[in-house]
Amino acid sequence: MQQNTFGPIPGSTILGGISGKKTIIMAANIRIATVAEGIFKAAKDTDSAVFMELARSECDLNGGYTGFTPKLFSEKMNEAAKAAEFDIWALHADHISIKTGSPQEIEGTKQLIDAQIAAGYTSFAIDASHLFNFEGKNVREELEKNIIATTDLAHHIKNRMKGKDFGLEVEVGEIGRKDGEGLILTKPQEAVEFIKALQENGVFPQVIAIANGSTHGHVYDAAGNVIEQLSIDIPQTRAVAKALRDNHLHVGIAQHGITGTPRDLINQHFPKGDIIKGNVGTFWQDVVFDIFKVYEPALYKEIQEWTLQKYGPLNPGKKDKQVFDGNCKMAIKEFFKQIYSVDEETNKAIRAMAYAESLIFFRAFGSYGSASLVRKTLK
Ligand SMILES: [Zn+2]
Repeated sequence: MQQNTFGPIPGSTILGGISGKKTIIMAANIRIATVAEGIFKAAKDTDSAVFMELARSECDLNGGYTGFTPKLFSEKMNEAAKAAEFDIWALHADHISIKTGSPQEIEGTKQLIDAQIAAGYTSFAIDASHLFNFEGKNVREELEKNIIATTDLAHHIKNRMKGKDFGLEVEVGEIGRKDGEGLILTKPQEAVEFIKALQENGVFPQVIAIANGSTHGHVYDAAGNVIEQLSIDIPQTRAVAKALRDNHLHVGIAQHGITGTPRDLINQHFPKGDIIKGNVGTFWQDVVFDIFKVYEPALYKEIQEWTLQKYGPLNPGKKDKQVFDGNCKMAIKEFFKQIYSVDEETNKAIRAMAYAESLIFFRAFGSYGSASLVRKTLK
């Protein structure tokens, strides 16, 4: 068997392969690599294509908050795919975020992208949605800085990929941004104008992330308890997808911030095929920490104490459980060695739980069989 048999394939190949089907491809943010093998095994057993991803905040040249550089993340994902013998997956750079658009920031971002490409990434999400001009007189003016930064970085990726296919996701409307009246949602016209402008510039993304009512991570009640997320605006999401289709732009929607959304709701009410990529991040971290509670109580207690000591003072008035829940991700890099040297019994439980939870996601997303659809389009 060839060495690269289970390496990642272009994100564009996966999204192209499911075009027109009522399917959402899961994109899992793997903050702790131990879950990856279970996810790949479930992908294999259900014939579901999958994206493995980390955002810039999670994984960068300094290790982000997970301790992973692009190179290390790639190695871990390739190992896990090989162990599970699964072939239809993409290695995706989630949220390559641009916050100011300054020349230094763009330059640093290109260095990150170069490292991702060197590490074998096959898909990229440019997120310049923060560069919204609230003073703009029309949609183009509001989005102009986002269009410029996204175009610049997309051309950079294309040059560095040297003719190889790759996935491209772009973002309009900052996810989770609120004004006085609540979450700000992306309008259909914004998404259409944004994609049209990019295409005029020679940039052709397969997928667009929009603000449609979701929030990254958990949602809490007034007492700081984690509650279900029911805020994704499905009619608005359908309207954006329809506008993109009516304008023949060939772009699907990436749903960010799925953690906490009940899977029966996803199964029965998400517009599959309008949404083509579904990001699940915090959920996988919860799987690991929930298992640590029972299998590694001493380590869990240490992580808890470190997080509360560090982030308690920064969050006055918040209940301890919410402070821990919202900031325990920052402990992953701090406790990197301990997290990756737990007992095999612990890792076995993590893999099994990741496997079972993945089955449910793949089922709810309608992605059973999607890997074969993609495989057919490969030579
Ligand atoms: Zn996101």
